[in-house]
Formats: sequence, structure tokens, C-alpha cells
Amino acid sequence: MSGWIRKTASEMADALAAGEVTSVELTQAHLDRIAAVDTPTDRRGVHAFLHVDAEGALAQAAESDARRSAGSPLSALDGVPIAVKDVLATEGLPTTCGSKILEGWIPPYDATVVARLKAAGLPILGKTNMDEFAMGSSTEHSAYGATHNPWDLDRIPGGSGGGSAAAVAAFEAPLAIGTDTGGSIRQPGAVTGTVGVKPTYGGVSRYGLVALANSLDQAGPVTRTVLDSALLHEVIGGHDPMDSTSIDQPLPDLVAAAKQGAAGDLSGVRVGVIKELSGDGWQPGVITRFQESVDLLVKAGAEVVEVSCPHFVHAMAAYYLILPAEASSNLAKFDAMRYGLRVWPEGKPDASAEEVMRATRDAGFGDEVKRRIILGTYALSSGYYDAYYGQAQKVRTLISRDFEAAFEQADVLVSPTAPTTAFKLGEKLDDPIAMYLNDLATIPANLAGVPGISVPSGLAEEDGLPAGFQILAPALADDRCYRVGAALEAALLEQWGGPLLDQAPALNGADA
Ligand code: GLN
Repeated sequence: MSGWIRKTASEMADALAAGEVTSVELTQAHLDRIAAVDTPTDRRGVHAFLHVDAEGALAQAAESDARRSAGSPLSALDGVPIAVKDVLATEGLPTTCGSKILEGWIPPYDATVVARLKAAGLPILGKTNMDEFAMGSSTEHSAYGATHNPWDLDRIPGGSGGGSAAAVAAFEAPLAIGTDTGGSIRQPGAVTGTVGVKPTYGGVSRYGLVALANSLDQAGPVTRTVLDSALLHEVIGGHDPMDSTSIDQPLPDLVAAAKQGAAGDLSGVRVGVIKELSGDGWQPGVITRFQESVDLLVKAGAEVVEVSCPHFVHAMAAYYLILPAEASSNLAKFDAMRYGLRVWPEGKPDASAEEVMRATRDAGFGDEVKRRIILGTYALSSGYYDAYYGQAQKVRTLISRDFEAAFEQADVLVSPTAPTTAFKLGEKLDDPIAMYLNDLATIPANLAGVPGISVPSGLAEEDGLPAGFQILAPALADDRCYRVGAALEAALLEQWGGPLLDQAPALNGADA
């Protein structure tokens, strides 16, 4: 059965349709893989999952097989299993957001994204690890221990959605859902050699997504190919009346765009290379792979221009005011009364509600979460609001204007996804600014609400680790990301002679 796990989701869907495999067999093969590599007892594992729901996934798979025998599959991906980041509410399944404060919380409802996965017949394998409340770039801020990069178990898988990316890179799941507030789908994609998509803001419902920063959060696909992301995006995307920021407009035809791109012709497409997002301070091997990828786009017929987005240099500073401001307000609901953990102060049986709240938050929130709550509360406090939060909102507008001007000159904008390849576990843990810098190239898209994809661009020569190529498009033109991404992927696959993940050393030997 193990041969199946290395296929793409679209190949799995075809095999299900042709009757070559059942959903129960596919689901079991992934559960076996999870058992073998995720938390093996005899050695270090990937630790991509916080909860595995073998029973639930197999029951959903059996239902899918029954539908298929009756000739009524629910969607193109009916029966293909998936993993979901632990920040999306799943009815009856734990949802911790990687935090101790939500330990033991079982949501009474499904997030819209999860409900749509179920309505399309995808068995849910389990919930994936993440930085606490999606704050981080390495998954080391998870209260349940870090996830390890399948390329090198001593290195980070990116974050905050390192669990979803590592699960897909380690063939524990063919598909996963991530969320991207400042890069948490795209940056883990880049450092694990997988594909990650942040849709247009409002393109995928946020209902049931535990909010980090409401004006920035977006759920999206994590996969091994561009076509698989398009297939998954079409399942989860589209208007949802339960989310007031959801866009009431049909999605562009994403699968058609991916197929068009894979045919390799980009003539008429104008690609803008963002001047501010490369150069000094970027890892040379990442830049080399980036430039080679740009050359491949030219070979496919694209026209390349350099564009300048002068305010992008201020994106990080603005993001680290807007995000903590929204997060500090969102996290106020974890008050020891409504959800999860409740800690009684030691030796105080008659403690007041406020004392219980304080003890619970002290024990339940990690350092990074506390840091951001303090930062956000400060930025919003009277007397400082205009100087910090108000200023940051102005910078946000300037960044949107940079995008508007750049999209006059180009149909898509490109940059490396992250400045470096995967760093060692622990290397940046005590240096918040160094950690924040990983998202230099991804944050502008969240501030402006535009869509982006990260596609593997190859291995950096210094360390043999994956680098990512980011493609950004105007809001609602997600199809352009898929078209250009698929064209690059096709050209690179030809060069590599097969998928990049086949070269990942830590994956060899662990499976049959
Ligand atoms: N790494 C960024 C942060 O820590 C992005 C997080 C995210 O996209 N969820 O805020």
C-alpha cells in the first residue's frame, strides 16, 4: 500500500475514480505512515500532528467508498485524505491552537473550511502542530513541542503552520489546510519544498478559524503540486454568509489556470520582480534559485520587468503593530471561564474570578503570546494609539498603493518566499526580531489582502535545503498565481527529473 502515499492528490483522485484503490486503503496507508514517522518510539519523529483521528478518518473513508460504489462521489477529491491545522474548529475533535490554554477544548461546531472538506468527502486524518495561536515562523512556539523538518530533523519546518507543511512533505498527508496571517502557509511551504497558497483576503471563509488577526488571516491549501492546491482551493473557497468579510463573488477557474500553466506557455504574461525583496542579507543560494526560476519564466514566454515597492521596507514594522493590536483583543476571550484551561491560584480556595483569570493566563499562554499581548495593548492604549496603531494603518495604505502601482506594470509580482532556507531548531528562538525577519517577503500580501503562492524553486547549494519562489497577484486574480506557478513547476520538474521531495534525505528509509 505504501506506494500510494507518494502520489499526488490528483493522481489519488484518478485512482479512486478508476477503482484502482479505495479511500479506506488510501487513508490507512497514510495512518500507517503517520505511525511510522510522526512519533516513532525508537527515534525522533516529524511530530507534524497534535491529534490523529484514525477512527473518524476511516469511518469517513468507508462512507466515501460506499458513495463511490453507488456512483455518487461528492467531489473530484472525494476519498482523498487531508490534515487540518489545529487553529480551525473541528466538531468533536480537540482544537488547541498549539496552546495550553485550549488544552481539552472540543469545539461544538465545524469551521466552514472543515464543513466544506466534509461536504466534499475528504477524510480528516487529524490536526496539525503550529506555533501557539499562529505566532511564529518555526513551530517552536507550540506548547506541545516543535515539529521537525522532514529534510533534516534538526531543522525547523517553518511556521506557524509547520505541522501542515511537514505532514505533506513527509507523505503523511497528500493535502493539508494552513492559515496565513503574515506568511504561515507560504514560508513553511518554502522551507519544506511544498506548495502553499494564501488566497485573496475574503476568498476563503474565516468562520471557525480561531482568529489571530482578523484583518490579515486567511486559510489556504498546502500540497505537493500546484494543481493539487487549485483542486483544494476550489473545495474550500467561495462566499460564506457566516463570515462578514467573505467576498460574494464566484472564484476564478483555478484548476483550469493550473492546467493552462502546466502546458508551459506564458506568452503575454508580465512578471514583475520586486526590487526591494532580494539582494543584501538574503542567502545566496536562495537568490540563485530565484534568478534561475525567473529565467525559466522568460523561457516560457513571460516578459520580465523590475518593479519597485518602496514602502515594503516598512511592512514588518507596521505588521508588528497591527497584528499584536488585533491579537491582544482576540485573546481576551481566553478568560478561564469559557474555554479550556482553568488554573486556581495556589493555596487560594476563595480566589476571585480575576485571580483565577490571571493564574490561568500566566500558566496557559507562552512567552511569545504574552509578548504580543503586551505589545498590542500598548499600541492601542490612549495616548499611544495615534503614534503607533494609527501610523501603522497609514503605512498599510501605502503598501496597498505600492501594489496597485506595481500591478499596472505587471500581471504578477515575484520574489523569493523567505530570505533563507530552514534554520536549526533553537537557532532563533531567543531572538524575536531574527524570527520575525523570516516573513519579510510574505507580510506585504497580508497587509494588502492580495493572493500569493509559494512554489519550490530547488535546493540552495550551500546546504542542500529547499528554497521557495513566491508569486503574488491582484486581489481576486488568484488564478494568475496558479497559472504562473504551474508553468514554473513544470519547467523545474523537467530539470530535476522528478519531484524535489524525492531528494529529501530524512524521508528515505522510514517508509516501506
Ligand atoms: N510568522 C508570522 C508571525 O509570527 C506569521 C504568522 C502567521 O502567518 N500566522 O506573526
